[in-house]
Amino acid sequence: MHYLNNYIGGRQCTPMQDEYLDDFNPATGETYAQVPDSEESDVELAVEAAQRAFPGWSRMPKKKRADYLLAIAKRIEERLEELALAESSDTGKPLGLTRRVDIPRAAANFHFFGTALMHTSGKAYETDGQAINYTLRQPLGVVACISPWNLPLYLFSWKVAPALAAGNTVVAKPSELTPMTAALLGEICQEVKLPPGVLNIVHGTGPKVGQKIIEHPDIKAISFTGGTQTGLHIAQLAAKELKKVSLELGGKNPNIIFADAPLEKAIETSVRGSFTNQGQVCLCGSRLLIERSIYEEFKEKFVDAVSKLRVGDPLDTTADLSALISKNHLDKVLSYIEVAKKEGGTILTGGNVVQVRGRCEDGYFMAPTVIEGLSQNCRVNQEEIFGPVVTLAPFDTEEEAIGYANATKYGLASTIWTNDTSRAHRVAHALDTGIVWINCWMLRDLRTPFGGMKQSGVGREGGFEAMNFFTEEKNICVSL
Ligand code: NDP
Repeated sequence: MHYLNNYIGGRQCTPMQDEYLDDFNPATGETYAQVPDSEESDVELAVEAAQRAFPGWSRMPKKKRADYLLAIAKRIEERLEELALAESSDTGKPLGLTRRVDIPRAAANFHFFGTALMHTSGKAYETDGQAINYTLRQPLGVVACISPWNLPLYLFSWKVAPALAAGNTVVAKPSELTPMTAALLGEICQEVKLPPGVLNIVHGTGPKVGQKIIEHPDIKAISFTGGTQTGLHIAQLAAKELKKVSLELGGKNPNIIFADAPLEKAIETSVRGSFTNQGQVCLCGSRLLIERSIYEEFKEKFVDAVSKLRVGDPLDTTADLSALISKNHLDKVLSYIEVAKKEGGTILTGGNVVQVRGRCEDGYFMAPTVIEGLSQNCRVNQEEIFGPVVTLAPFDTEEEAIGYANATKYGLASTIWTNDTSRAHRVAHALDTGIVWINCWMLRDLRTPFGGMKQSGVGREGGFEAMNFFTEEKNICVSL
């Protein structure tokens, strides 16, 4: 059995209490590693190491700091195959996806922020000949990065890279369900000789160790991605100490298809945008709203395409979908199928578990599911399911589509399909979501602001937004 370590003060460390949790492969149901079940004393060590490292790291010439981040990006690229396999085994997602998306994006995050830090600058304000004001952006100190299981290294690095680039030192916790690639990142930091204590990775559960990180008085800011309930809890803890927080939370994203949409592309992309990573992407569209005049045609073609998707072993390169993250999560997603039936929904395809033969017969697989006939205010259309389940509903007018789209407590992302440019912009302006895609999905530019409205989050990540979050702006006024 493989035992993972915490990475603290530049060293691989066993947890202080020597307690471990099972790390299982969702595609096989087998436990294949042990993860440190860390607690307060591990957090204490990590924060102390980060504090010791802060003066050296924050004052290091930018070019040198950038070189470390670029070296990490390079090692991720060099170890891509190993990292992709680790990510696939930990999450149950298709290996093709981790090779193509998760790991290259993790490298891109370090590369992006490694170069971004060379392009930061302050501002200057001349005050009527009397004074000149200039601003400095200074790092905060020791900051926390906490990430979920659905895009493990992708999101972990999306937080850690800007935090380090801005000159902070970091205590980070991945989800205990998917610790493997964060553990490998610790090894990579050792390989590139990142100064000890600059990045510290503490494994364990959210309530036990995550909360101790958040509560630690020397943690100055928290960048968190996860569920809305956890986010609300973290916001309350952080408020007690007036800690800075960035919260990227849940979603219930609408995907609006107008009658004049480029239909083939809309269908193909909507299949991908609904079921990538078994629907376990915060940006997946889960409510498809279709203009009534094309509803039947769209439905027929969409359901046909979905029913042809292959659910299979993550190592099988022909599989479109693989396992959900855990038995608990599979049960939760399946429970919504029962709710949908009670709420009057019709299952058009899927709704069942899938038995994958061979090494995966004990894995947590489910068929991609499409449901119609539900009202917009029912539970299935209001609550985040975070699995391979979408609903279809017709609308008659643009106003009705906007009303349905905005009628949840969430506001993360939305997609609009239309060839009418004016309408595309009009609807985009009216949608209460932090991101709107027009005739595309998941097309990301790392410079753009990323985040949610309403209960989908507080603050923005991405580009200089992230660098700003991880710094404090100071104004210095000099009399002339
Ligand atoms: P959770 O909120 O359960 O967990 C997220 C992270 O927080 C995990 O590392 C978890 O640890 C940790 N955590 C849990 N409780 C605490 C606590 N009291 N103090 C500190 N840390 C804690 O989310 P999931 O992991 O289930 O991820 C799925 C959710 O993430 C979905 O709602 C999804 O929409 C959202 N998400 C949002 C994104 C966005 O950008 N807006 C992107 C991706 C996902 P542990 O796992 O060990 O319990």
